[in-house]
Amino acid sequence: MKLPAVALWAVAAGLTFAFPAPRATAQQATGDGAVYEKDIPIQVTEVAPGLFYQYHHAESNNAFLVTDEGVLVIDSRQHPRRAEELLATIRKYTDKPIKWLVNTHAHGDHYFGNSVFKREGATIIAHRDTAGMMKAHYGLEMKRRMGYFKQQKYDPGEVKLVLPDVTFDSNVTLTLGGRTVELLYMGPGQNPGDTQVYFPKERVMFTGGPFSKNSWANPSFTPSMSNWVDMLRKIAAMDVDIYLGGHGDIGNKQDVLHEAQMLSDFDAGMRAAVAKGMSKDEIIKNVRFEQYKDVRNYYRMNLFISSYYHFLTTGRPENAYP
Ligand SMILES: [Zn+2]
Repeated sequence: MKLPAVALWAVAAGLTFAFPAPRATAQQATGDGAVYEKDIPIQVTEVAPGLFYQYHHAESNNAFLVTDEGVLVIDSRQHPRRAEELLATIRKYTDKPIKWLVNTHAHGDHYFGNSVFKREGATIIAHRDTAGMMKAHYGLEMKRRMGYFKQQKYDPGEVKLVLPDVTFDSNVTLTLGGRTVELLYMGPGQNPGDTQVYFPKERVMFTGGPFSKNSWANPSFTPSMSNWVDMLRKIAAMDVDIYLGGHGDIGNKQDVLHEAQMLSDFDAGMRAAVAKGMSKDEIIKNVRFEQYKDVRNYYRMNLFISSYYHFLTTGRPENAYP
């Protein structure tokens, strides 16, 4: 049963209520949205009692918490078909209703399956800026996924923009079936609105956009690389043992700190190159950050350099929140 609107806003205010993809190809820059990742089968791991992590290397990850009162799902995948698969996986463990869907950030590979969970009766919750980014960038996100849809033979017309029912602007604590789930907002990281989903008793955190184990993150949305790096160092210092990224396998504190270092090195290297007066093309040719070439998504480095060059030379992210 859904909470009435008033109760939902009380929650928002912070009150507590009780498949095959192509093999990785050359280190090329591709802007077509197609996926060039290793074909690792989808894995589901119960990381704490009733708390499951679905790791899909080539696409994006999810988590779901199963309780006696219902299910909380984190992120909804890249297409409604993928969301139906996730729902079928959840149904292997429970027939309880889907109560909550958390959207951690506004990238299509993490929320284009929202319609499926909405149909199931879930209340969708996200940070105010995540909801804003969904509205502002829906067209861009669709465009960015066209290569993927084509590759998977998915109909883009099946994707519907389904916005959060509830938004919040600071931290929110949800309880479900006696379990506590904290939605933490620590300022923008990879994106305006980035939300960390923290399970304090279980010492587990789902990190959405800002942290993905051994994975380059697209920097074209961040309004503050320094806040992003600080956020990673802060969450690494918290009472957490298991970090579940929006991409990549299960991580630990060292993995989070590795990403902080990688982003910090990227930022410093890019700033030094721009300060020397190098053009975007010169940087792409000569500054390759090759010490991180084995990190997932490195094949998109040309795009990352290009978009961060835009940020450093204009003061605005390439894909800014209007
Ligand atoms: Zn993603």
